[in-house]
Amino acid sequence: MGAPTGGGGGGAAVLRGFDAPLEAWGPGHRGVDLAAGADAPVRSTLDGVVSFAGPVGGVPVVVVEHPGTGTPSLRSTYEPVVATVAPHARVTAGQVIGRLAAAPGGPGHCGALRGCLHWGLLRGERYLDPLRLLRRARHARLLPLLNGGGGGATARARAPAGAGEGPVSR
Ligand SMILES: [Zn+2]
Repeated sequence: MGAPTGGGGGGAAVLRGFDAPLEAWGPGHRGVDLAAGADAPVRSTLDGVVSFAGPVGGVPVVVVEHPGTGTPSLRSTYEPVVATVAPHARVTAGQVIGRLAAAPGGPGHCGALRGCLHWGLLRGERYLDPLRLLRRARHARLLPLLNGGGGGATARARAPAGAGEGPVSR
């Protein structure tokens, strides 16, 4: 589990945060914008099934449904992303599902100079803050360390730099 951009390291820069609309169709920002260059690989945040891949109003969108996350189940959305997976395909957390597309017709969602991924999270028709998933993931990853004695921070500091193996590697 991790951010959809930034190589899965969870270090993706947030250009614009979530701003829940007061009314269903009122103004707001129904997702989070993550900095990413054109053609950057985009990853699914959680295990799931691709429920939609195609253009919506001229913008390529990928939607992944996540069974087992409640009723109705969570869906994550990624745009503008040209899918590299087919609808109904099963995907795992961290799997590349598409590539960031250039915004059609000039300045994109984040302005002309900055590319970005608009990442959304829904339960039914309700928009949620997708960054919640990352916070939850980080917490879950720390628990085994904290319970294993020595403390998470110490255990981390002792790990060799760049170690790609072990129970906490991604
Ligand atoms: Zn956005």
